[in-house]
Amino acid sequence: MTTHSNDLAATEVTGSSSARVPGWTSSFVAFLLDGAGPGDRLSWGARLDAVRAQADAAQLVIERDGASVVAWIRLRTAGGAAYRTTEHFLLGHEGTSLDDAALALLNELHRELVRRESTLPEPLLEAMRQSAAGAQADLPMPIEWLAVRAGVKPAARQVPSGAAVGDELVAAAERQGLHAIAVDAAAYLADFSTGDAAGCQTIVYVGATPEAARTACDAERAMIAACDRGEPVTFALNAALGRALGYPECCIAAFGPRCDLPNAALRFEALEQTGASAFALLNDVDPRRSLISHFVCRYDCGASLRYARGVLDAVAAVDVTRAEALSQSLHGVVAVFREGGSLQLGETHAAGDDRYVYRSSVMHENLGGYAHWRDVLADADEVRLAPGVLTPFRNGQPLAPLPFDEARVQIRAFVGAA
Ligand SMILES: [Zn+2]
Repeated sequence: MTTHSNDLAATEVTGSSSARVPGWTSSFVAFLLDGAGPGDRLSWGARLDAVRAQADAAQLVIERDGASVVAWIRLRTAGGAAYRTTEHFLLGHEGTSLDDAALALLNELHRELVRRESTLPEPLLEAMRQSAAGAQADLPMPIEWLAVRAGVKPAARQVPSGAAVGDELVAAAERQGLHAIAVDAAAYLADFSTGDAAGCQTIVYVGATPEAARTACDAERAMIAACDRGEPVTFALNAALGRALGYPECCIAAFGPRCDLPNAALRFEALEQTGASAFALLNDVDPRRSLISHFVCRYDCGASLRYARGVLDAVAAVDVTRAEALSQSLHGVVAVFREGGSLQLGETHAAGDDRYVYRSSVMHENLGGYAHWRDVLADADEVRLAPGVLTPFRNGQPLAPLPFDEARVQIRAFVGAA
């Protein structure tokens, strides 16, 4: 089961550009691996299969005796759920579950992180501080709270990582004149949510009034009670929570019969339902930049567009430059993979004949059998979209086409609405 909300939605707004040149991550990787590269044996015994310094995360593929894990390391200040935390970092993995051998690899990586943390070089610490400041300094509160304060929606729901964070969030919301309730729901989050919220313990409801926060809290309390009794969560219970959070009726109705699907499949089916192009403001493949926190019925849903515009206006009311940058970052060509993962070609412009020139490519999660797309598209600068085939170009010259199964991959340009 999934809950109605994207669990990590919109807890912060990060930098505007999905830069190919990372700040802290490349020097961190060099420090952590002592200069080891793919194929090398690491000091703690595992073998490094691949390493990638992304804009806000280091990604490592490590392997031993046939067991393999795709691990990511982010700054703890970035927030969000993680498998383990350290003083400075969040450590997580791709895929929804790992076997014991893969978990052992991840635990060893965690130990190594902790062991090295005390010797992080000062220039690296400074780069990490700057990255954290850049991610957090611009807005006074999460964008969903801005939306609540602006009356775009009655209440917001968040699932922070870590046990103590709930109380801190409640205090932060109250400093902003909002009303918040934190509920411990570790067993429910572990059983009921898929993916991102695993390992989280607390749900925080934030409303413009005490009643609005209480209505959202009570709606989910009824869902938690049903789970505790071993009963299914009915459509009516799900819909009540969706309404308490201000989600559009069409999206609530679409979610009901699909609520057992994994998050990736929900997004895939919504894109499958979408016409020739999608609304950029509904792009939710990066939860930290998403304006929406519900699963849309389609990525050209008019009601969701009005909602997203309201959220963006609430951001613009406190930081017009940030709102514009955020909006721009949501434009681009997006591929969503039914089994999980997505990629976005950013800073695009249409070049006619369904061709799009782009300047950045960002992948979210593991693309499974389509993993090679990441490297092909990182080396290209233009694509042509056609049914069942994506053709990359470099300097105007076509490269080998990337065929795909439309039952597993959906691709649209996410553009501004007319
Ligand atoms: Zn809708």
